[in-house]
Amino acid sequence: MSAIVEAGSADRYELVVGLEVHVQLRTRTKAFCRCSTAFGAAPNTQVCPVCLGLPGALPVLNEHAVRLAVRTALVLGCTINELSTFARKHYFYPDLPKGYQVTQYERPLATGGQLEIGVLEGGTPIMVGIQRVHMEEDAGKLVHDRYPGATAVDLNRAGIPLVEIVTAPELHAPEAAGAWLRVLRHLLVFADVSDCSMEEGSLRVDANVSVRPRSQVALGTRTEVKNLNSFSAVERAIALEYARQCALFDAGAEVVSQTLLYDEGTDALRPARRKEAGEDYRYFPDPDLPPLSLDAVWIDALRANMPEMPRARRARFMREYQLTDYAADVLISTPTIADYYEGVARHHADPRAAANWVMGEVLAAVKGTGTTLDDFPVRPSDLAELLDLVREGQVSNSAAKQVFQRMLEHPERPRAIIAREGLARVADPARLHALIDEALAAHPAEAARLAAGETRLLGVLVGAVMQQSRGAADPAAVRQLLAERFGGGAGG
Ligand code: ADP
Ligand code: MG
Ligand code: ZN
Repeated sequence: MSAIVEAGSADRYELVVGLEVHVQLRTRTKAFCRCSTAFGAAPNTQVCPVCLGLPGALPVLNEHAVRLAVRTALVLGCTINELSTFARKHYFYPDLPKGYQVTQYERPLATGGQLEIGVLEGGTPIMVGIQRVHMEEDAGKLVHDRYPGATAVDLNRAGIPLVEIVTAPELHAPEAAGAWLRVLRHLLVFADVSDCSMEEGSLRVDANVSVRPRSQVALGTRTEVKNLNSFSAVERAIALEYARQCALFDAGAEVVSQTLLYDEGTDALRPARRKEAGEDYRYFPDPDLPPLSLDAVWIDALRANMPEMPRARRARFMREYQLTDYAADVLISTPTIADYYEGVARHHADPRAAANWVMGEVLAAVKGTGTTLDDFPVRPSDLAELLDLVREGQVSNSAAKQVFQRMLEHPERPRAIIAREGLARVADPARLHALIDEALAAHPAEAARLAAGETRLLGVLVGAVMQQSRGAADPAAVRQLLAERFGGGAGG
């Protein structure tokens, strides 16, 4: 990625990046009115006088949005300010009917946190400072592809609660910015603050980028790449802007403070509107919203009731379920996967077998069907029951996989499927002998070669019996009986 910066430039100039991240909070209703926040509704069906900015409408702050914003700040180790204020940030744009956005300016909700994004060799953590976390409201959306030659406005998104998270200018590589965002998203999803879906726009990033000669302490002039909506776009835009600024420095030219947009299609940056200076927004305290005063006891209660964060959950999984590092990593990749796994592991005596099934069959099925674990047809308790049956030897592992496929198609208890489809493990010698007879009859050539002493055909015939029984036969018993019939090779 840094290949686009000439090697010499990268040696001479250090990249400096600070990120501003907008995260849509997972509330049912908007920040200052009772309109729904559901994604994907018909345009302008989730609006009211408050979020349309009609004269005289009065905002009422959504308490749950405050709770989620505080949780965000707690996850980032910030100091929560017991008193914060709402301000109006004025600008004209068609997606902003009030002509101002409600945000927090002079007194934000929280300040001064940190996020660890990895460890250096030797174990020193790489920390990135968080300058502030504040609440604000989202704007509407312009729709360019609905009416040919015209632009429409959808205000369903107007007034949805956001938190903005602002990092210190402490990221020094495009990949570090990507890593920081991935860690942030992982934490916020576990904190149940937001779904952080970049496709649906619930996590959006502005990247502030400057360069400075390596010997220089003072920060260089920055530009801001706005509205990046994928991790790869963030990394790519930063890499391009780093290269552009290095080239300016090398040419003896100056970086001009400006706002840029990154176009993923053309993989290029272009200037957006002029970067406003702070005072252009004419911030002033919103007279309709009293200062937000948070009680220390209330904050402590939120702190005490935080959902279990990924790191703690990972450690507990390894301790309670004896998982490998790899399995623990996979199983905490999302809270739904972690919950699903725990649902199975709690009902089944072998947590490592449960882990293998969830990582194997379950995640493959999720991927294959394009569903999510939220509406997965196989309930954890039913999968646990199936694994119990495997463990007790009532069904073979391969037959269990067939049962699982049936459960995916049609929710049913595994016992019922096994009974109906005759998939119970067959260990009764008489029945196994009958199956062996059938298999030998179906494969006369192989049977003859085995009889002639070609013992490596034992495996082929075991396979034939397994197929004949649709996985129900006990393979070890089949092998044993075949070896006895043909003499020797039972251990093979
Ligand atoms: P604004 O609100 O006008 O965008 P802030 O001063 O609050 O400005 O800074 C916003 C972001 O810009 C922060 O993430 C900060 O780390 C980053 N930033 C500030 N100065 C620089 C710089 N010279 N180079 C890179 N990032 C910077
Ligand atoms: Mg900014
Ligand atoms: Zn509304």
